[in-house]
Amino acid sequence: MPVPWPPSRLRLAILAALLVAASGARPSQVDAAAPPTGGLPRTSLVAAAGIQPGRVDRTSLRLSATYEATLRLGFTNRSFVVDSTATVTNTSGGPIDRLELNTAVARLGGLVLTAVTVDGNAVGATVDDQTIVVPLGGILPVDGRTVVRVRYGATLRTSLSASSWLFTRANGIVNAYRWLPWISRATPFSRPNHGDPFVTPNSPFVRLTVTTDRRLVIATTGDRVFRSDDGLTQRFEARNVRDVTVTAAPDFRTREAKVGATTIRYYYRSATNAQLTLDAAVAAFRKLQVRLGPYPYPTFKVVQSAGGYGMESPRLIWIPYGAGSANLRYLVTHETAHQWFYGLVGSDQARQPFADEAAADFVARYVTGLKRASRCASGRLDRSIYDYTAACYYEQIYIGGGNLIDQARQAMGSTAFWAALRGYVADQRYGLASNRTLLRALDDATPIDLGARIFGPRFPSIY
Ligand SMILES: [Zn+2]
Repeated sequence: MPVPWPPSRLRLAILAALLVAASGARPSQVDAAAPPTGGLPRTSLVAAAGIQPGRVDRTSLRLSATYEATLRLGFTNRSFVVDSTATVTNTSGGPIDRLELNTAVARLGGLVLTAVTVDGNAVGATVDDQTIVVPLGGILPVDGRTVVRVRYGATLRTSLSASSWLFTRANGIVNAYRWLPWISRATPFSRPNHGDPFVTPNSPFVRLTVTTDRRLVIATTGDRVFRSDDGLTQRFEARNVRDVTVTAAPDFRTREAKVGATTIRYYYRSATNAQLTLDAAVAAFRKLQVRLGPYPYPTFKVVQSAGGYGMESPRLIWIPYGAGSANLRYLVTHETAHQWFYGLVGSDQARQPFADEAAADFVARYVTGLKRASRCASGRLDRSIYDYTAACYYEQIYIGGGNLIDQARQAMGSTAFWAALRGYVADQRYGLASNRTLLRALDDATPIDLGARIFGPRFPSIY
């Protein structure tokens, strides 16, 4: 029997009614910015093939997965219990026999798998570094579909040190980054700097239900579609995102502004610099959208996080608690730029950090007039985050990489350059691009040989 997923709106309404009846709760407030009405992913009318006998020792990033997850979040005792179901269609063009699901919680939260099933059958999943390896128990053929359910328990950390800020409760705020087991490829978590050790393909649809031990204001990637009368259960949905980040506090306040059709909302506990932060986000969003093309989501959330570093998520950025005013405009603009380079146009952030960090930092410094020289020697830009030192990763990839992109702009002229960058974003939207794709998009838009003149020496693996 064909299983349309996500369900039709009629089925959704019936499902919601059943859930409401079962929980004894009634839907209450819905976010002012309702989720978009169109754009539900198309589903095949033909039943997709399931798992078949055999093995191929292969997985792929090019799978299409929708996620339906519940999170039981204990704000008081830091408990973090996840039950996530991924409906995976093999769009990779070849058979696969395992999934490599990424979650940083395996490295940060003492993750314990409690059950993993494939089409309802228990399988022997293993955790390796930050990857949950799920054997499918056979081959998933091209265009085949399978349902993988992962349940785990974990505990939020208490500090912000090293990478703990990605999964912690501090300063009265819960930070949960890269917690939802997501289609990926095995990628080491440890690195000598603060690079992002992640690669996550876009998902057409995610639904998240969060149940909490006390009333919390939850700032997450999706928009809220349901809240129970007691305020302890909330449901969120998002379309076309490559991650779902959760930030929560009992006393988050918000202020917001509108840019075109997009509501930009700032969530904060400390009011220090609140208006400055929102104003910076509004200014950045407006300038970047003009240059890089339209933002397809109804809301963009700027969230005061527990602390640590500024961080990008789809439809949401973290500005760390206590961030000083001196650097705020740059920080907010850089993270906002990731809405395009990372959010809309994805890439392998671990292996090709130039593709998102140099592009984001270049546009951020361009629109704020904060361009400066690198404080480290210029060198190769085609290395992974594992290959740069803590002292020079930022200087070489962000500053040096951004300045290389600016060299291309100066050589080809601003008009051709911005048209090419905008075209790159449009062409690669919701995909996974690469250094090569980005450089080629610029080079193809000018008669000047940028490869020979500018890019080649810094990207010997490409030129
Ligand atoms: Zn960045």
